[in-house]
Amino acid sequence: MQTVLVAGGGGFIGSHLCKSLLSDNFKVICVDNFVTSNKRNVEELLPDKNFRLIEQDITKSFEPGEKIDFIFHLASPASPNAKSPRSYINFPVETLLANSQGTHMLLDLARENKSKFLYVSSSEIYGDPEVSPQKEDYFGNVNPNGPRSVYDESKRFGEAITMAYFRKFGLNIRIIRIFNTYGPKMQKDDGRVVSNFINQALWEKDFTIYGDGSQTRSFCYVDDMVSGLKLAMFKDGTQGKVYNLGNPDERSVKELADIIKKLTGSESKIIFEELPFDDPKTRRPDIERAKEELGWEPMVRLEEGLQRTIEYFRSL
Ligand code: UDP
Repeated sequence: MQTVLVAGGGGFIGSHLCKSLLSDNFKVICVDNFVTSNKRNVEELLPDKNFRLIEQDITKSFEPGEKIDFIFHLASPASPNAKSPRSYINFPVETLLANSQGTHMLLDLARENKSKFLYVSSSEIYGDPEVSPQKEDYFGNVNPNGPRSVYDESKRFGEAITMAYFRKFGLNIRIIRIFNTYGPKMQKDDGRVVSNFINQALWEKDFTIYGDGSQTRSFCYVDDMVSGLKLAMFKDGTQGKVYNLGNPDERSVKELADIIKKLTGSESKIIFEELPFDDPKTRRPDIERAKEELGWEPMVRLEEGLQRTIEYFRSL
């Protein structure tokens, strides 16, 4: 049986990944310090004898005590919404270090163990993009010291150091740029647009649209994201490569509010609030590379994925 270490395995995407790897018959070590995630996400996995939880800050060195075959690095705060207590804006230094020092630490662990390594980067490395859709060879348009820079720039550093270990030491790495992802187990108070709108709809509160709602995002259902991450790790030929993973179905924030309002039958009104500083106006992945080389594309339609997410939040 092979062992997979998932750094950030207690997070929204990480916990889905751990569950999926267990059902594929891997031994899974989840490493998380739950700074922005919730232990509840992995509670259902704790009784599984092939699952082990290490509560640990990945910027500090630690010894897993067994041979690791694969490392997924998803450990980082990820919400840009400063109004959320979980936002990276409220953990600026932790975010910078999780993607720099933390990535360094995990790369060394991968070198010692000769593990395959997957670094989870983000569409945020494209900043406020001047081209759409974003292809992997676009260098981005990032403010190096704005409030979002703690995330954008540390993800860029994370990519750079991951590539350095590939070039210098021949480590078997790949980099994934995740675009907006949603689904069950998102934190209710994460401040992301999907969780905010669904909870506002369910509790008959006003929908808070930041700006005029014309900015666009492309939303990928979490199951599709997990299958893409696994293909990028386990399929041959991905070493040293960068892949966008996301759903190219681009929608405006206003359109998203209208869909959630319809699906929930909510009577909530829409109110417009100030657009956060450096909020990207557009975001849509070009996924041709992932389609061709991984044989991957999202399968879950937005309305269908939102329906499942609404049911999850209803059940809480
Ligand atoms: N947004 C919004 N209302 C909210 C939360 C977010 O209008 O209650 C907007 C936000 O300004 C951004 C988009 O929705 O333009 C997506 O925000 P999110 O925080 O989900 O992720 P981002 O793509 O900005 O990382």
